[in-house]
Amino acid sequence: MRLIFLGTGAGVPSKERNVSSIALEMQQENGSVWLFDCGEATQHQILRTNIRPRKIDKIFITHLHGDHIYGLPGFLSSRSFQNGESALTIYGPKGIREFVETSLQISGTRLAYPLNFVEVSDGITYEDEQFVVSCAKLDHGIISYGYRIVEKDLPGQLQPNKLKDIGVHPGPIYKQIKEMDQVQLENGEILYRKDFIGPEKPGRIVTILGDTRYVPTLDEFVRDSDVLVHESTFEQSQEELAYNYFHSTTKQAALLAKDGQVKKLILTHISSRYQDDSNDHLRQEAQETFENTSIAHDFFEIEIQAKN
Ligand SMILES: [Zn+2]
Ligand SMILES: [Zn+2]
Repeated sequence: MRLIFLGTGAGVPSKERNVSSIALEMQQENGSVWLFDCGEATQHQILRTNIRPRKIDKIFITHLHGDHIYGLPGFLSSRSFQNGESALTIYGPKGIREFVETSLQISGTRLAYPLNFVEVSDGITYEDEQFVVSCAKLDHGIISYGYRIVEKDLPGQLQPNKLKDIGVHPGPIYKQIKEMDQVQLENGEILYRKDFIGPEKPGRIVTILGDTRYVPTLDEFVRDSDVLVHESTFEQSQEELAYNYFHSTTKQAALLAKDGQVKKLILTHISSRYQDDSNDHLRQEAQETFENTSIAHDFFEIEIQAKN
């Protein structure tokens, strides 16, 4: 499970940072890639990674500001040309369907794959055997959401040494012990699954917030995340400006990370007023409140390790 930042700038692209998009690569977990926001030229950024567009089967949109969605029509269209035939679902606030369908229709674009839409609201927005994705409303002038992606706990592994110790050797019986609560051996002995299965592995949690003012009550929504991605459009001294433009500062993002007891904070959506040489300054401001903080840059990657 890996996060790849495709665009980390706020509002307008700069030479150093493109507008917002983040990929959550889950090749090992479920063979797919999920995209969070799709600012203009996201497809160009993807070309510079090893992400294959047809592997992207879900796109979660935080809000409908242009720097988060103008890349959608181009990406969707190119995915068709690049042998994308599998279905794709776009999740986002009300209006996302109209924006995409209008763009495709007016430009006469026909997609070679089924395109589905889910207009989201607070609460669970997607669930399968492995993951649950839920949404919380933020504070950004227009409706903006955060997404919390929770990997379900992984079942415990069979512990073959314990079985060998009592003289049960590898074979079809192992599968039975793994799948059934109890199994009777040929000699009549009954084995209980719970005695030969290790503990469940806790799943990972990644929370990605869209543009927002500092909302202290979001601490529950972000709680215990392995990674929290938070916007940090401004430095600490610009708190008033951040409030007026419905954005957050370094310090505010760090406060939420601390209150939510997350493990790692990544700041993104950095104003173009800050060049690369400001990164240390921005990071240090956040680190005064929350030590494990990184400032994302375009193509910044982070592996989210499975827990033991
Ligand atoms: Zn934005
Ligand atoms: Zn915005």
